[in-house]
Amino acid sequence: MSNKTQEILELYRAKVMPTYAPSVVIASGKGVAVRDVDGLQYYDFTSGIGVQNVGYSHPKVVKAIQDQAAAMTHCSNLYANVPATLLASKLVELSGLDGKVFFCNSGAEANEAAIKLARKWGSANGGRYEVVTMRQSFHGRTLATVTATGQAWCQDGYDPLPVGFAYADFNDLESVKAAVNERTVAVMLEAVQGEGGVNPATEEFMRGVRALCDEKNLLLICDEVQAGMGRTGTWFAWQGYDVKPDLFTLAKSVAGGIPMGALVSNAKLADVFSASTHASTFGGNPIAAAAGLAVIAVIEEEGLLENAVKVGELLREALQGFVDKYDKLLAVRGKGMMLGLVVDGEAKDIVEALKGQGLLALTAGRNVVRFLPPLMLGEDDLEDAVDMISDALECAFGE
Ligand SMILES: *Cc1c(COP(=O)(O)O)cnc(C)c1O
Repeated sequence: MSNKTQEILELYRAKVMPTYAPSVVIASGKGVAVRDVDGLQYYDFTSGIGVQNVGYSHPKVVKAIQDQAAAMTHCSNLYANVPATLLASKLVELSGLDGKVFFCNSGAEANEAAIKLARKWGSANGGRYEVVTMRQSFHGRTLATVTATGQAWCQDGYDPLPVGFAYADFNDLESVKAAVNERTVAVMLEAVQGEGGVNPATEEFMRGVRALCDEKNLLLICDEVQAGMGRTGTWFAWQGYDVKPDLFTLAKSVAGGIPMGALVSNAKLADVFSASTHASTFGGNPIAAAAGLAVIAVIEEEGLLENAVKVGELLREALQGFVDKYDKLLAVRGKGMMLGLVVDGEAKDIVEALKGQGLLALTAGRNVVRFLPPLMLGEDDLEDAVDMISDALECAFGE
């Protein structure tokens, strides 16, 4: 480890709370590649954890941010701004839900808004407030969203947790039915679970949950914070199923690297929040919104939904080849550019081996290696990456 990396990491460890444990200091990025402070290059198959869907430093996104920063960085929500208004309109159009958008700054905040909206609607519809969420889900780190997150390790030490949540097993409709009672107002899920292990919902489960929600007058909330904005090959992962949610949330990639969250509703829920019932100072920030408009334009102009399907399939085939080769690799799962490699062992050991070959990847749960490459990944770069994966697996398992 060279001096610059060492120096920054020492200061980091001394002064930044240890919620993360970085061993690399990134200085810049272009397309799929990032460089550390000592000039070492990595392929980022995390996309900054599902953020850089159009690649690092896309010239259109950079220009949109620069132009908007020069014109106005912020003006408060007491006044409308043009980029946020246009972005809301674009997101509603892409969703086909005929509703409206609430803007905020993160995934947790977007999910918090969805939970609040569901409760507000429920209070006027039978006095209901309970939200059923899935085990192995991930919805964020605020007190409400960490409670919504169906994983004990996220909740340890934070008691008392807010009331109003119940849990069911993902892809098990009977379990969801059993969790619903007279207090239930909504079911919240990820169409493709991210942190919990890259688990796509089955068609049958999504249709069953929608039918259950219709029957019991419950809202279906899809958390699209990770799977949204083209990651799975459709604008929103729920569009890969024959269902429509009542509400869905976005963050991570929506503004191409600028913090932004969004809650999108259908027509029925468009006016549940009224003046001063919910707010966020920076929500719909003009720089974030201008970046968001540029991201959508790039995805459309460069055919990145199609590319996510095509190159995602090539990556899946390559990973399947490794599963066939190594007993310690059990399966590949996921959709589009959101893929998980299930290992018999610790996923973090594979992630470490990949880093040693110059490829950044993630874990998802204890035993899944998660790949979230940028949607713009080309076939040449994929080939290079597959070589790195091959070398890393050889290091980890031997020939
Ligand atoms: C990352 C993530 C969140 C939380 O988003 P933050 O911006 O970190 O608050 C919520 N839901 C899902 C599915 C996520 O992947």
